Amino acid sequence: MYDVIIVGSGVMGMSIARELSQNNLNVAVIDRDVAGKHASYKAGGMLGAQNEFTSYSPLYRLAREAQTRFEGLSESLKQEVGVDIEYKQTGLIKLAAQDSDNDFVEKQYHFLHQYNPSVELLSSQNLSLATHGEVDTRGLSAALIPDDHQINANKYTKALLKSLNKRDIHRWYQTEALNIESISNGYQVVTNRGCLTTEKVIVAGGAWSADLIEEPSLKRQVTGVKGEVLLVENKSLKLDTTIFMTNGCYIVPKSKHRYLIGATSLNNDYSVGVSEAGKQWLFHQACAKVPGLQDSKMIKHWSGIRPYTLNEQPIMDEIQSGLFIITGHYRNGILLSPLIGELMSEWLVNDSRPEVLENFIYKRGELNEVCD
Ligand SMILES: Cc1cc2nc3c(=O)[nH]c(=O)nc-3n(C[C@H](O)[C@H](O)[C@H](O)COP(=O)(O)OP(=O)(O)OC[C@H]3O[C@@H](n4cnc5c(N)ncnc54)[C@H](O)[C@@H]3O)c2cc1C
Repeated sequence: MYDVIIVGSGVMGMSIARELSQNNLNVAVIDRDVAGKHASYKAGGMLGAQNEFTSYSPLYRLAREAQTRFEGLSESLKQEVGVDIEYKQTGLIKLAAQDSDNDFVEKQYHFLHQYNPSVELLSSQNLSLATHGEVDTRGLSAALIPDDHQINANKYTKALLKSLNKRDIHRWYQTEALNIESISNGYQVVTNRGCLTTEKVIVAGGAWSADLIEEPSLKRQVTGVKGEVLLVENKSLKLDTTIFMTNGCYIVPKSKHRYLIGATSLNNDYSVGVSEAGKQWLFHQACAKVPGLQDSKMIKHWSGIRPYTLNEQPIMDEIQSGLFIITGHYRNGILLSPLIGELMSEWLVNDSRPEVLENFIYKRGELNEVCD
């Protein structure tokens, strides 16, 4: 019998398992696929703790806290498993996609600047300087968020997987959890390869998390939003800061002169692959602001499904004694994962919900209120 079974081997499941293993618990992670297939491997890798927020919410606080973990985490993964997750302190520029979005960028700047004075509204001249002349401004508002850095999400997820291997955490791949049944001293997880028993279960199944829990309100709240991404190479482009536009298109400078261009948002679309329309939209939007991208070589493209909730607030809750759900981190799952790993481990070990997770219950009131 395990102490904890985690369903889902994305960044959430693996970060929690990694933290739990430090407490001498007998942990298993199960996933119906082989590693590499889902959102965690496909993400842009932005640590956009400020870029994504316009008000001082409990999630904003978690995101800022999570951002502080990556420098140390990058070093510890390098030492433990020899993988460089390419933590780059290159910052991010939020850019209005069109004139009518200027107000939004300026309002967001005012909010962010209140809590981080290093966030700066850029004049056209300073925007040009910050992007080595690569961004075509045409009077659009832009804000520099100097500490919204980035990692390579694919390498990060692979590094977590290697770390789990080293820590002797049981991994069951190509093993689908079909049902979770309550038994006298815990739970039985029924899978396509037999039954596993455990004291506690954490469902961290990304966009599919609600399928395993018999709770209609969860099924209404959790869905998937497909995102498509392109990776191009351009040896003459000098851009080294992430550009994130208000229409959701972003350009993230990666190693080896590569640029990741993301991402579309297709609600409730669980299909795999990048459509021609998706490719065109991404490339067109990116080139409209960074004309130098036009001459890029296409390296590859891919898609992933973000776990989404109706009000864009993750659900991190104990549904019934010993049965937890961790999902809905939407565009911020990579960023939040190390902190959620720590907090969930603390919760399970101390048998007490950390205060900072109190707002993320599945029976929701109004969660978007401003907190002082
Ligand atoms: C294109 C794109 C760009 C993104 N960019 C960023 C970014 O820049 N920064 C950021 O912070 N976040 C970003 N994200 C979001 C981030 O990737 C996700 O929030 C995060 O990866 C979710 O992790 P997860 O572990 O919850 O889910 P997943 O990675 O989807 O993992 C869930 C796992 O559960 C398994 N599973 C589900 N049901 C079962 C079952 N019944 N039995 C067994 N296994 C099951 C699945 O096979 C899967 O492996 C992006 C996402 C996408 C798609």
